Amino acid sequence: MTGPRPGSGRDGADGKQRRLGSLLNRLRAAVLGANDGIVSMAGLVVGVAGATPHRGALLIAGVAGTMAGALSMAAGEYVSVSTQRDTERAALARERWELATDPAGELEELVGLYRARGLEERLAREVARALTARDALRAHAEVELGLTPYRVSPWQAAGSSLFAFALGALVPLSAMLLSPDAWRLTITVVAVLAATGVLGAVSARLGGAVPARAALRSMVGGAFAMLVTYLVGTLLGTMTAL
Ligand SMILES: [Zn+2]
Repeated sequence: MTGPRPGSGRDGADGKQRRLGSLLNRLRAAVLGANDGIVSMAGLVVGVAGATPHRGALLIAGVAGTMAGALSMAAGEYVSVSTQRDTERAALARERWELATDPAGELEELVGLYRARGLEERLAREVARALTARDALRAHAEVELGLTPYRVSPWQAAGSSLFAFALGALVPLSAMLLSPDAWRLTITVVAVLAATGVLGAVSARLGGAVPARAALRSMVGGAFAMLVTYLVGTLLGTMTAL
């Protein structure tokens, strides 16, 4: 029994689909990062604006907050992706060892997994044999562990969340700093609600959910953050008389 040759048409379509899935995941992560940047920075600048009318204070708080938030997002993403990669590597190493020491048992395991997915015995065995002949480790990685190649590197993940957060943070920061005094709060609130709404809808569309509901949810989150920090900022501003 011979399996399909490597590099056949099916292989190519498979790879394309996986790369597309990985791209979608990265886009979704970027949208979430940008949304994080918008909401946290909106809270920060609105809170500072509630406490003090000084533009210098807003600029300092905004820049420091953007850097702190972006770096913290990047560090978190780096750690999370590295940990996931290490976990996957350990699982693959164990799988490789099992394949080397007990190939017959591993073939039976694969047959069992395909039977559990609904294939009848004969077909399950045929599929398991063909995939084992082609690339046993890959077959086990995909079917048993649910792993796919084309993963993002930790540095890539860290870099894109840093960039996404900073880009998002620019929305409330620039709205607050560039608007005329009398309008800056209103303009910032409108800009933040619009941006979070759009990002919420985009992220829902990427995930196949209802865009309108996600947009609303996202806007409520932004509005809530601004309301709370504005109240706290105003309170602190009155107490400390900055
Ligand atoms: Zn296995």
